[in-house]
Amino acid sequence: MNTHALPSYLDSQHLGPWGIYLEQIDRVTPYLGGLSRWVETLKRPKRILIVDVPIELDNGTVAHFEGYRVQHNTSRGPGKGGVRFHQEVTLSEVMALSAWMSVKNAAVNLPYGGAKGGVRVDPRTLSRGELERITRRYTSEIGIIIGPTRDIPAPDVNTNEQIMAWMMDTYSMNEGSTATGVVTGKPIALGGSLGRKEATGRGVFTVGEEAARRIGLSLEGARVAVQGLGNVGGVAARLFVQAGCRIVAVQDHAGTVYRDAGLDIPDLLTHVAQHGSVLGYTSTETLDSGKFWETPCDILVPAALEQQITAANAYSIQARMIIEGANGPTTPEADDILHDRGILVVPDVIANAGGVTVSYFEWV
Ligand code: NAD
Repeated sequence: MNTHALPSYLDSQHLGPWGIYLEQIDRVTPYLGGLSRWVETLKRPKRILIVDVPIELDNGTVAHFEGYRVQHNTSRGPGKGGVRFHQEVTLSEVMALSAWMSVKNAAVNLPYGGAKGGVRVDPRTLSRGELERITRRYTSEIGIIIGPTRDIPAPDVNTNEQIMAWMMDTYSMNEGSTATGVVTGKPIALGGSLGRKEATGRGVFTVGEEAARRIGLSLEGARVAVQGLGNVGGVAARLFVQAGCRIVAVQDHAGTVYRDAGLDIPDLLTHVAQHGSVLGYTSTETLDSGKFWETPCDILVPAALEQQITAANAYSIQARMIIEGANGPTTPEADDILHDRGILVVPDVIANAGGVTVSYFEWV
C-alpha cells in the first residue's frame, strides 16, 4: 500500500492554486534535509469545512452561497488566516491560501498555524443588510471549528473591520460570552489594534525598502507599478510615494491608469473610495490594460489576487524587483523565468507578513 498517495482532491494533478502550492513544496523539499520527512504533512490540510450559507435577500427570495474554512496546520498554534468574499473563491484557492499562511506564520516565527476562509459571492452585488446576513450565517456555520484558541479569522479581499465586528458579535452571541479573541482586524472600539489596517501595506513597503537597499536601488524617483489598490496596495502605494517614489501605473479589477510623471495617489485613493475602482479617473495618460505588466518600472507590487504573473507575461516584465503584496501572485514557471532574467522576487510569505504580525499583537 502506498501510504503517501494523496486523496484525489489533494493530488498534484490538481489545477489552480493548490496545485501551485504542491509544486512549490516539491521544489523546496531537496533543501530541507532531515526535515523533508514532514513534507507529506504539508501536503495535507488538517481540516476542511464546506458550508452552505443561505440568506434571505432584500427581495424576499432565499439565496445560497458556498463557504469554506480550511485549517491547513495547527502544529505551531491556532489556525490563523483571513476570510475572502469573492465571486471566484474556490476550495483549491482557500486550501492554498491556508497552506501559505502556515508557511508565513512559521517564516516570521508567530505561534500560529495556517488557516483561511472564503465565501463564493460578489459582495458588490449585495446590500449592506445582505452582506451582514451572509457574514453572520457564514460565521455561525464555521463556528464549530473557529475560536480564540482554535482558529482566528481576519480581513482579506473584500472583507474589513466591519465584517470582523459582525463575525465577533455572531460568534459571541452563539457562545454566550464576549469572545474578543475570535477575530483580528476588528475596529479599535472592539479591541482592535492601532495600525492593523495599514500593517500589511506598511510591511510590503518596509520589505521593499530593505530589498531596494540590498540591490542598490534608491527609492528617490524610483518608478513603481501596483496591481490592486485595496487595503494592501493602497497603503503600500501611499508609503512608496512618501519615500520619494513615483507610482507610474495602477491596475485594479475594473481598470488601469498610468502617468509617467507619477500618479497623485491620495487623489486616486479618494476617487477609488467614491467610485469603487480606478475606472473613470481622469488625471492620467491611457494605458492598454494588457500592457500593465510591461510598464517600465523599478519596483512591481502585485497586491490583488493569485496567479497574476505567469509564463505568459513574465518575459515582458520590466521591473528590477517584485514585492509580492498579494498571496501567491507568481506561478512557479514565472518564478523560474524571473530568476533567469535576474529580477529579484520577494515572496509573499515575507513581504506581506506585516498584517498577521500586528494581528498577533491584537490577539495577545
Ligand atoms: P482588498 O479587497 O482591499 O483589495 C483588493 C484589490 O485587488 C482591489 O483594488 C481590487 O480592485 C483588486 N483586484 C481584484 N481583482 C482584480 C483583478 N482581477 N485584477 C486586478 N486587480 C484586481 O484586498 P486586500 O486585503 O488588499 O488583499 C489583496 C491581496 O493581499 C490578496 O492576495 C490578499 O490575500 C493579500 N493579503 C492581504 C492581507 C490583509 O491584511 N488584508 C494580508 C496579507 C495578504
